[in-house]
Order: sequence, then C-alpha cells, then structure tokens
Amino acid sequence: MALIVQKYGGTSVGSPERIRNVAQRLLEAQREDNDVVAVISAMAGVTDNLIKLARETSPQPTDREFDVLLSTGERAATALVAMAVNALGGRAISLTGAEAGVLTDRIHTKAKIANINPRLIEELLGDGYIVVVAGFQGQTPEGETTTLGRGGSDLSAIALAGALGADACQIFTDVDGVFSCDPRIVPEAMKMEEIAYDELLEMAGAGSKVMQSRAVEFAKKFGVPFEVRSSFKSAPGTVAKEEAANMEDVVIRGISVERKQAKVTLDDVPDTPGAASRIFSAIATANILVDVIVQSASDRNTTDISFTIHQDDLARAEELLTPVVQQIGASRVSSHGGMAKLSVVGIGMRSHSGVAARLFECLGEGAINIELISTSEIKITVVIAEKDAERAAQLTHETFGLARSGVAQGPVR
Ligand code: ADP
Ligand code: ASP
Ligand code: MG
Repeated sequence: MALIVQKYGGTSVGSPERIRNVAQRLLEAQREDNDVVAVISAMAGVTDNLIKLARETSPQPTDREFDVLLSTGERAATALVAMAVNALGGRAISLTGAEAGVLTDRIHTKAKIANINPRLIEELLGDGYIVVVAGFQGQTPEGETTTLGRGGSDLSAIALAGALGADACQIFTDVDGVFSCDPRIVPEAMKMEEIAYDELLEMAGAGSKVMQSRAVEFAKKFGVPFEVRSSFKSAPGTVAKEEAANMEDVVIRGISVERKQAKVTLDDVPDTPGAASRIFSAIATANILVDVIVQSASDRNTTDISFTIHQDDLARAEELLTPVVQQIGASRVSSHGGMAKLSVVGIGMRSHSGVAARLFECLGEGAINIELISTSEIKITVVIAEKDAERAAQLTHETFGLARSGVAQGPVR
C-alpha cells in the first residue's frame, strides 16, 4: 500500500459541487489501494475576504489575531471536504494544522515550519480514514495559531509529504500543470512535463504563483518530488524534481510576470562605505522586501541607487527614506508605482550565451523601455511599466519559441 498526499487549492474547493468532486477523487485514490492524506486550502476568495474584513474592522489588527482569523478559511473547507467524503459513504476526518502536528516558529503571518509530528495522522490512516488536513497553518510551541504566508497550503502539503515519507505528492489546482508562462497572460503557453526545482523556484519567486516559492524551496531542500496537475481532469501534470541530465538542453523554460511593483531611486548618494547600509537598514525595519537593486557607476564620488518594492509598501518606504536622504547627504528620493518585473528563467542559461541580447532586442523592437535589469545564474529580470507587462510577456514568449502548437485551453475560473 502506498501513501499519497493530495493538495487541493482554493478554486478546486470553490463550491459544494467542486468539493464533492474532490471527495470523489480522494475516494478513488483510496480505492486504488493508497493511504490518503488531503491538504485543503480555503475556498476561493475566502482568505482575501477575511483580510478585507480585518482591515475594515481595525486599522492595525495584530498579527496574532490575523492568523486566528485567516486560519478559519482552511478549517471550514477541511470540514466540508470531510463531510463530502462521508456523504459518499467513505470515512474521512478533518484536522487543523495544529492537530496534524505542524509546529512552527513564532513569526505570525509568515511562520516557518520547525517540525512536523505526524503521529495522529499515521494513527488515523491506520484506522482506515482519509485524513483531511487544513493547509496554510500550524502552531507555535505555546499552542498559538500561525499561518505560513500567502499560498502556504502548498508548503503544508510538501512538508507533510516529507514528514510522512509519502510515495507521491500531488498539487491539484485550476490549470493543467506548470506552463511556460501564466496561461491567463499568454494563452499559447505550453504545459511542461517536468521542471527542475531550481527553475520552478526562480519562476515562483519571480511572480508565477502556481506554487508558493517557499514550498518549492522546502521540496528541493528535503528532496520531495511533487506533481502539479488539474483537479478537473485526469491528465498527468508537471513533475518537479531534481535536475536531470538533458534539462540544460532547453535554454529558456519559462517566463514570469510580477505586477504591482514600484521603483525607488536615491540620487547623488555619496560614494562612501555605509551609505547603502543606511538606506536598506531603514527599509528593513518595516519588513519591506526589496528586490532588484542597481547602483550606477560612481560619478564625481556620488552614485544613484535604485531598487524595487511592492507598490503597497511605497508610502511607508518613502516615509522611512526621507530622513535617511538628509542624513547621508543624498540629493533626493523619487519613486514610481505602476511597474512590473518580467523574468526569463532556464537552467540552460548556464551553458548558453546570448539570452540577454535576445531579450533586450525583443523588448526594444516592441518599444518597451527597460528601467532596471538584474540577473542570476538561471534568470534575467527586467523592470518595465506595468501597462506593457502583458505584451512584453507575449513578445518574449514568442521570441524564445515557447508556444505550443496545439489549441490553447484556458484555465478554469
Ligand atoms: P491554488 O488555489 O490551486 O493554489 P493558485 O491560484 O495559487 O491556485 O495558482 C494557480 C494559478 O497560477 C493559475 O490559475 C495561473 O493563473 C497561475 N500561474 C502563474 N504562472 C503560472 C505558470 N507558469 N503555470 C501555470 N499557472 C500559472
Ligand atoms: N488560503 C491561503 C491563501 O489564499 C493559502 C493557500 O491558498 O494556499 O493564501
Ligand atoms: Mg496557490
């Protein structure tokens, strides 16, 4: 008998009918002689609504109460899935993250999993239950509820699969697998049969929300292979695994787009040790994530420093940087919202040259201005205007020959 972990995302449990579909799939997996653990997300839109509700109720809810509130979305969906299995004549039981043994650190709203004690899950599997676990949540050593960051049910599934030594981990979602670009942006995008952890990690980190990047990081670290596939079809999806020998033959595997970015620039920063540290320490005090950082060549002992942050953090960043500009003797800080990041990703980039030139040429021909550029070993990111993002993704997708030849099938909504 094999042990299988199946994770179902928000759209897949978005209505009673879809929940019944999930219940049927779980029973099918059990009938195929598997022990079955399901990890469930909140029904589509529920987490967003809870966040909205919190903000309407209190200007600054504490992170602790935020977590208690958000965790309820997954708890509700989990109970509904268990009810649906039971209504079909099966035996299922729902568990909160805490009951499932997910222990985290104390960082509310983006907790890290410290340890998983799957004893209760194993006992219940032994008794023949389908065990339905609430994703996205755990508890601190003191028993406080925590959540694992947006998209965190992916992490719950991967971590549970690792802790249970599962034979398979399947991430069921509303698209057929991992595509060469978000199929909602590029309808011709191609589904991949397999992808290296590193590529998916870069894509997820660059805005492809098909998998939470922390979940991919965890899978890579602990060697948990998984498959991303559709909960509405029976076709195989995309297998994420350690890099295989021929994977480098493909130069560009995928394109990611991240919207709602802002570019911040400090002009005439004195070219002295410690200036950059003052700038980024100020930003770090507010836990604002900084991405693409570019410093211009020193001109008359001053440089310009630009970087990107999420647009929602812009007001706070400006507030924090205004005094720093004076303290370090820079001339001014300026910022622009309405930006996007476009990234091309592929492990083949390590052994093939000319990718940057092709990317810049294609954007140039499309009259799309590049504001900032950053690179890693297997990724090139450009910052462009958000209004150009969709067109840039389509042009880039075509330039690198990523389109499939068959008829495009849109994602499920
Ligand atoms: P779930 O609720 O199942 O976790 P998500 O909404 O978090 O689903 O992730 C699935 C979505 O990710 C898809 O609907 C798709 O629009 C988006 N997406 C972004 N980039 C990609 C990509 N490269 N391949 C597939 N889907 C992608
Ligand atoms: N419900 C949570 C979210 O919307 C976690 C998840 O769906 O994975 O972010
Ligand atoms: Mg998700």
